[in-house]
Amino acid sequence: MKNPTDAYASLTRSLGKIFDLTSTSSLLSWDEQVNLPSAPECAQLRGRQLSTLAEAIHEAGTSPSIKEDLEALESQKDALTFDQKAVIREARRDYDLKAKLPPSFVAEKTKASSQAYHAWAEAREASDFSKLAPHLERNLELAKQESAYQWLEGNPYDYWVDQFDPGVKTETIERLFSELKEALVPLLETVLKSDNKATADIFKGFPVDKQRSFLIDVTTKIGFDYNSGRIDVALHPFCSGSTSDCRLTTRFNEDTPLDSLYSSIHEAGHGLYEQGLPLETEGTPLSEAVGSAIHESQSRLWENQVGRSRAFWKHWEPLYRKAFALQLEGIDSEIFYRAINAVERNPIRVDSDELTYNLHIILRFTLEKRLFAGELSVKDLPEAWNALTQELLGFTPKSDKEGVLQDVHWPCGFFGYFPSYCLGNMTAAQWWELVQKDIPNLEEQIAQGEYATLLSWLRKNIHEQGKRYRTLDLIEHVTGKPLSAKPLIAYLQERYLPLYS
Ligand code: ZN
Repeated sequence: MKNPTDAYASLTRSLGKIFDLTSTSSLLSWDEQVNLPSAPECAQLRGRQLSTLAEAIHEAGTSPSIKEDLEALESQKDALTFDQKAVIREARRDYDLKAKLPPSFVAEKTKASSQAYHAWAEAREASDFSKLAPHLERNLELAKQESAYQWLEGNPYDYWVDQFDPGVKTETIERLFSELKEALVPLLETVLKSDNKATADIFKGFPVDKQRSFLIDVTTKIGFDYNSGRIDVALHPFCSGSTSDCRLTTRFNEDTPLDSLYSSIHEAGHGLYEQGLPLETEGTPLSEAVGSAIHESQSRLWENQVGRSRAFWKHWEPLYRKAFALQLEGIDSEIFYRAINAVERNPIRVDSDELTYNLHIILRFTLEKRLFAGELSVKDLPEAWNALTQELLGFTPKSDKEGVLQDVHWPCGFFGYFPSYCLGNMTAAQWWELVQKDIPNLEEQIAQGEYATLLSWLRKNIHEQGKRYRTLDLIEHVTGKPLSAKPLIAYLQERYLPLYS
């Protein structure tokens, strides 16, 4: 058996190779969404390249040498440091996840979700759920089967939640979401009943080149490093990459400038997390993000807590008015600020404000859970979706396109992902509560366009931790309290009640 020093060196070498392969794959996916020429053969070639890489990643991740190194290290744990133990814990998790799935199952699942994706695009276009239903049934069945390969007992939905936020349990989410729902449904009612209306519809005709240079100024100022990153245009905004090379995307429309601005701040928040992971351990779990909820807590904090605050616009409003003098003529500062924080009943999750967004997530979580528990069948999904939308958000979607067919997650086989968005909002509010105590003049700094102290707080407490702690442990380690819905409820009440009283 190898001694711990040799086994650890050998393990991190293997992990480094897997990282090179996965980061190559994600770069090709980025390129597919940003640069790919339109001829069908280009997409076919890219599909083959990605599937060859996926096979290579699976092979590298299940190699006998990783198994041997892990066994050697696990039997000599006393010789290991805290950081080494974290690397081994996460490497073991990844190894088991890959090794327990038969390659034929993985191939079948990939094929099924690719077919479901295309069926979804067609079904959504036609607003016809029946075109998607059989594919969704298949995806659900495969998802349950996968959890059976991995987990011998317990709730199969727990397995899927754990995929995105390791260590988080369905019952924890249930408890947190039910507290949030109790507070948000009446808050939304108060806001919507108010005579003080607000709308983002007043921003029209913003030239794209000026939008682009403004959002680059903002994201540079908050700390995104364009020497090791870039921003391009894609259909959907996203962030991919790592410390060494981080890619953001956004999209532009002359009549919805806040969409590109806020999605860019959001993605830059993800990017700041990636760029803040330690470079010297890149390729190991010490330089990986904890999970989806913590990632989302970073993007949301910059987008909402910082980006929608009065202090933020104290600095940026004069510059925005200078760039878009014609378009903002006659719009006074208060109307401007209210437009940025407009709360409206929007059937589409991705277009929703930060208050109703959480209710959109609670809806999806409730339905997913019922699908996995066998309490709801796929064919009854549209009806259940509409009834729950009425209960939570107070309206019924006009069509399935605006309802159950709007998201790509389930067709792609991503169950258990939605809760991360809302857990991320809760976590962001919990960081925010603490960061305001730790940096007493934070608001002043933000009003002057200074973000360095805030960023170094996030670097030290979250980014530089890599995967040393799992989601709930990191939150408790940093804030001294378990994850709670209360800071998010308080933050939303404080921001929206004065605006809509
Ligand atoms: Zn995000």
